[in-house]
Amino acid sequence: MKKIYRLFLLLVLSLSLFGCKKDIPGNDNTDNGSGNSEYVRLVASPKAWDGNKQADISYQLLIYSFADSDGDGTGDLKGLTEKLDYLDSLGVTSLWLSPIHPAMSYHGYDVLDYGEVNPDFGTIEDFKEFVNQAHSRNIKVYIDYVLNHTGREHPWFKDASSSQDSPYRDFYIFSENPQADIAAGKIDMIATEGSGGYDQGQWFATSTTEAVTLSFTLDWSDSSNPTVTVTTADTVDEDNPDESENNAKYIYFGDGQLKKFYDKGNGIYQLNVSFSSSWGFLIKTAVEWTAGTKYGAGSPENSMIEFGVPFVLHNSSDNNAVYDIRMPGSQYFHSHFWTNWFADLNYGKAEEAEKSGAFKAVTECAKKWVDAGIDGMRLDAVKHIYHNERSDENPIFLDKFYKEVAGYYNSEEPFYMVGEVFSDHSDAAPYYKGLPALFDFAFWWRLSDAINNGVGNKFVKTILSYKEEYKSYRADYIDALKLSNHDEDRAGSVLGESYKKMALAGAVLLTSSGNPYIYYGEELGYSGTKAGGDEYVRQPMLWGDTYTTSYTDKIDNGLSTKVGSIASPSPDAKSVFDTYKSFARARNSYPALARGQMVRHDVFNESVTSIPSLCAWYMVYEDEKLLVLHNFAQDNISFLLRDDVLNAIALQGDISIKKGNETRLMMGGYSSVVFELNK
Ligand code: MG
Repeated sequence: MKKIYRLFLLLVLSLSLFGCKKDIPGNDNTDNGSGNSEYVRLVASPKAWDGNKQADISYQLLIYSFADSDGDGTGDLKGLTEKLDYLDSLGVTSLWLSPIHPAMSYHGYDVLDYGEVNPDFGTIEDFKEFVNQAHSRNIKVYIDYVLNHTGREHPWFKDASSSQDSPYRDFYIFSENPQADIAAGKIDMIATEGSGGYDQGQWFATSTTEAVTLSFTLDWSDSSNPTVTVTTADTVDEDNPDESENNAKYIYFGDGQLKKFYDKGNGIYQLNVSFSSSWGFLIKTAVEWTAGTKYGAGSPENSMIEFGVPFVLHNSSDNNAVYDIRMPGSQYFHSHFWTNWFADLNYGKAEEAEKSGAFKAVTECAKKWVDAGIDGMRLDAVKHIYHNERSDENPIFLDKFYKEVAGYYNSEEPFYMVGEVFSDHSDAAPYYKGLPALFDFAFWWRLSDAINNGVGNKFVKTILSYKEEYKSYRADYIDALKLSNHDEDRAGSVLGESYKKMALAGAVLLTSSGNPYIYYGEELGYSGTKAGGDEYVRQPMLWGDTYTTSYTDKIDNGLSTKVGSIASPSPDAKSVFDTYKSFARARNSYPALARGQMVRHDVFNESVTSIPSLCAWYMVYEDEKLLVLHNFAQDNISFLLRDDVLNAIALQGDISIKKGNETRLMMGGYSSVVFELNK
């Protein structure tokens, strides 16, 4: 073997000396080292699959778009149950369902009742039957659980916002003066972030306050200390027709309303308006947002007016921040996502979150689903629960939630819980302190960049460094790998609608260590971007039968032209489909793919710059060792195989092999192969 290695080094050295192109290391037109044997097309010959699903292959699906059993256009639990054989045949071992609860929107992330099934999807009996049918096929069921917020129409929130005495009042975060309360450390969910991270757009009036007629009087007679005085009024002034901006003063409030004051002389300006604003108001000296000077409060603590009392205005020209001026009597609630569609749940201080009413209520509902047979949960938006994404608060909270639900789960296997931390690796890693599994967004971002740039030799080193990071927080971390999901542009679009790249990405996903998730439709080469609406990355599953949904009118009819259907895939889609099926089968057949660890290849790694598109690693489990090779670029590559390979157990794309005194491999663009190695 040492001899072959020296030969290889010589080869690399001579290639680099002669300035060979990246696609011709060991160029076979000039290489006669293996005698007169010829390249032959490589065919995979895996061992027969015994039907046992050894791997953890998860499948993400959106109930509403997946399979419709009753012809109402919306996917449902019975439809999903009837498509379980398809998922079983794909080798899937667990399903992540989009939220199943009654909700305000089609996507379900604005929950109205954590304890019930959305009637559009069926009944609790339908759900239990679906779980039973899934379990009978060794498929686990994970439900999506939305812990950060409820829908605004949730009965808890409606009750809580109706009265300070509501038993649900503490389920949410209310404040008359959020800026002051945050600055004073009174809002536990935001306490460690403090007022510095405060975003005014994340507070909303508890109800759309009825407009009131108010009179605003500016006293600019001392221009270094102008004031505003607010009183109630009976009539609303006409809009000021004066278009001059000389000494003009405007009030800015509500949903982008800007009205000009009347100049009453002697530095007095006055205007009566019909006032409704969830955030208060500012005074401006120009129409354009970036022009002139803004006047408001000097600090969050002193941002609320008293009716009839002059309020000193601070301006933005001295580099100080200017805060919104707030009206007394308003109640605001917190919603982290800049929309009053949601209302954030209040778990109090993270260290004692279990004492909060909201925690008790959501865990009580979670236990109902454990009783209904679920095996795990996907937790939505977990980095947003406590505001400070980088503090320990969210991991502390998540650890409590996990232990509460997992402790209730009566099974030999641990309860599964995967969190969505939509961040890069180093920001996501600390969340392993709270949860056993996390989605690895960085994996897909690095993979898609690597494939689109045609550079494969650095990928393994990068991914292994991430895994070390994750491991430092949890020894038995579960790396939940994925390509795109329902919140991102489809993998197919990110990869330029290249079906070869899609097949390659699927092969990388299914040959990497971790817990891979297939986003429904990925196996059929789906594309779609969020540009025209999220629905375009959530298109109906194209079955080629009556189960195909029509839940939205935002349907890309071009998609079915491109990919066909599950029953009848287009040739392009079939190449992707075959890759998913064969690589999933290999993962379920070989323990090293199913449960093994990625190991950096000792030759074909980041240091081999003569074949930059080659991405190689070993998968090792107990005494089984596999060689995984991918070509991340469109050009053929050929090279001397230094490993003592046996048969190929999975491949996609065009791959040829030449055996003689030594073995050479030719990998077509975007191709993949997994070899069994001689022990
Ligand atoms: Mg239906």
